Amino acid sequence: MAWRFALRIDPVASDDRRESFDDTLRVIDPGAPALPVGELSAQRGDGIFESLGVVGGHPQEVGPHLERLVHSAQLCELPTPHLAQWRAAIERVAAEAGEGESVIKLVLSRGVDGGASPTAWITLADAPDNARARSEGVRIATLDRGYALDVPARAPWLLLGAKTLSYATNMAAIREAQRRGADDAVFVSSDGYVLEAPTASVVLRFGDRFVTPTPSAGILHGTTQLSLFAHLEQRGFATAYDTVTTAQLAEADAAWLLSSVRLAAPVAAVDGQPMAIDRAFTDELNAYLLSPRD
Ligand code: PLP
Repeated sequence: MAWRFALRIDPVASDDRRESFDDTLRVIDPGAPALPVGELSAQRGDGIFESLGVVGGHPQEVGPHLERLVHSAQLCELPTPHLAQWRAAIERVAAEAGEGESVIKLVLSRGVDGGASPTAWITLADAPDNARARSEGVRIATLDRGYALDVPARAPWLLLGAKTLSYATNMAAIREAQRRGADDAVFVSSDGYVLEAPTASVVLRFGDRFVTPTPSAGILHGTTQLSLFAHLEQRGFATAYDTVTTAQLAEADAAWLLSSVRLAAPVAAVDGQPMAIDRAFTDELNAYLLSPRD
């Protein structure tokens, strides 16, 4: 990924009343070392993040991303992010974006082991080329996540539902899916329910009804899915959060993986079984997702 710009953020308390955050944001060289070796983000993946799509300089869905950052911070017992400070940082970074698609990443780490405060930074990078995934779709392999739907409630210390920096297992799942001849994975619970992809939400179409697995089931509430549901409802479609069995995934009329940067990638096959792609409808969804959204 080509990193183009970065700011170090000195996080202020969530109730700080200052009006300007300029002196808490410091431009750093995105290609130079910036973290001490004792950083818990690097040592333990102990921190949280958000990735926002930026289209033509407009950062998409800033409010929902910041809401999820706050939610992740609460689950991980990190200091509550100051919304106006993060907004100021996003605005400053987005001003560097220019035309085309890019990615803003927000990171809040627990900081240096034994240190007094968390560490935070924000980066701007070029978005990868997602044209093929959006048009040809992605072949998915379903992979056992290893826990049942009720685990998040029984074991909150697993931090399921928080967007933590610990994505090693998510990346391992994508590699396993590729070994199985697919492009991406979809996690299923040990009791047979669809959860999410390692870096995306799952949305299924049954006739004129669109369904996504309930976010309380230890999965992230996708900002792209949330925005798409609002759009679909405006167009007169029904939407629902529900439990979805693995069998229902194969029976759906269509399915998509949704995320902030790749946007809507239609599912082209499930465990080797081809699935129909509605190219024109998917193009419409992506045209909406590429329009400025707040
Ligand atoms: N689920 C997981 C595990 C993710 O990592 C992501 C995004 O990276 C999503 C869902 C989709 O979230 P969003 O649409 O906010 O990008």
